[in-house]
Amino acid sequence: MDQSNALHTLPAQPRDFGFFIDGRWEEAGPRAIFERTSPAHDRVVTRITRCTREDVDRAVGVARAAFEDGRWSRLSGAERAAVLLRAAAGIRGRLHELALLETLETGKPIGQSLGEVEGGAGIYEYAAGAARALHGDAFNNLGDRMFGLVTREPIGVVGLITPWNFPFFILSERVPFILAAGCTIVAKPSEVTSATTLLMAEILAEAGLPDGVFNVVTGSGAEIGQALTEHPDIDMVSFTGSTAVGRKALLASAGNFKKLGLELGGKNPQIVFADANLEDAADGVVFGLCFNAGQCCVSGSRLVVEKSVAAQFEALVADRIARLRIGDPLDPRTQMGAIVTEAQNRTILGYIEAGGREGARLVCGGGALASETGRYIRPTVFGDVTRDMTIFREEIFGPVLTISTFETLDEAIEIANDTVYGLAASIWTTNLETSTQAFRRVRAGRVWVNTTIAGGPELPIGGFKQSGTGRETGIYGVEEYTQVKTVHIALGRREPWVA
Ligand code: NDP
Repeated sequence: MDQSNALHTLPAQPRDFGFFIDGRWEEAGPRAIFERTSPAHDRVVTRITRCTREDVDRAVGVARAAFEDGRWSRLSGAERAAVLLRAAAGIRGRLHELALLETLETGKPIGQSLGEVEGGAGIYEYAAGAARALHGDAFNNLGDRMFGLVTREPIGVVGLITPWNFPFFILSERVPFILAAGCTIVAKPSEVTSATTLLMAEILAEAGLPDGVFNVVTGSGAEIGQALTEHPDIDMVSFTGSTAVGRKALLASAGNFKKLGLELGGKNPQIVFADANLEDAADGVVFGLCFNAGQCCVSGSRLVVEKSVAAQFEALVADRIARLRIGDPLDPRTQMGAIVTEAQNRTILGYIEAGGREGARLVCGGGALASETGRYIRPTVFGDVTRDMTIFREEIFGPVLTISTFETLDEAIEIANDTVYGLAASIWTTNLETSTQAFRRVRAGRVWVNTTIAGGPELPIGGFKQSGTGRETGIYGVEEYTQVKTVHIALGRREPWVA
């Protein structure tokens, strides 16, 4: 047994959290409290403050003051990098505490949480370099009497709204880049998964981030999230979540024309050609379906497989699903954990019912997995899916796979692109020509060839079509939180305009 198992047990008492403004914890005081129940154990694990709109105003005011006085925005890249590197060390130092809270609130396997927290630390390290690499441009081609500069400046106060599926990892894909750019932040995590964002505020403060640069307000999306998207003193909102709420954020941002970064839903194809290594592809498809119990914006939820191998491939997928270890997320051997909330559970089960009702053929799964506590869903695969079916068209955000077949590359691309979304796509083939044609023509912001859900901070992420706007991570991700200023510098005496 792994020695760290002792660190990953269900705590006897829930942990109380205040919220974090201006470098210090604030107590809940008279505010309402939200009790978060572990989706796997039906036990209250955290108690989260329901902040008020006044708290939002105060946090934004503090972030504005911190931005304007230059305590962070005017530091050198090297000074910002030093804080980000200390924050990465701080994350690693609290790895087990963060991972346990993440698992308790999300229901995801502890091994996965540990990986996501470690991965998050690595993103801070990458972004530290980006803080120093960020630069503008010079124009030395304007003739003897003129010189041109383009500078990049931090955009200002950023409102950061994050979802419940990867609370710490998605936060880590954004915060260090926003900080590297020199901005200040008011973050609002999903109410059901607030703990690790709150702990991150403490870690950043201990790393030497000046007071007021990173603030966290907690509470519901409808109230606190909406207040951030509407706020006239926020310059940019980075929102990750559903396309429906992304649309609301877009409307709310109109008040002060704030910039928006949106990472929204997906209905991502897994295109499998007959010449692929089918064993590898089947493993990848099952991973893409079941990772995070399918509650993943880049989940590969539509299998588009060449007809000549479809029956064989379906059997390979079903065989692997049967061998998955589903259960208590605190067990280090678990591969797929619990469904995050009862509402999400009902949504997924509703889609499974719709699949049967609309005439799709059930290959495996088909409903809930019996358990003493918590809620689990059996990975479900539907064959004979037509493109008008609800399960083909809508994002389910659960472990439900549809199978469509094709006979030509053109047909494969047409089926893959037949969606309002454009977040991600995977292509499985051993033919270079086929993979190149396919990755060029598929309309998605992230494409994987002979793998799926691969990532890292070096490359940017974001969506085409209704999957979003803007890019996070990589150099593109830092630049997203800057605005460009153009400077013309005249040299020598001025040609008089007035005679
Ligand atoms: P939401 O879009 O409602 O939640 C995402 C974030 O937005 C949360 O922090 C939420 O807060 C907040 N929020 C909710 N309403 C508003 C609002 N009016 N203004 C500003 N912020 C708001 O997603 P759900 O949790 O309802 O999940 C529904 C579906 O969304 C899923 O089934 C899935 O399809 C998709 N989704 C996609 C994600 C992605 O990574 N692209 C992530 C999560 C969901 P709170 O949770 O506290 O209400």
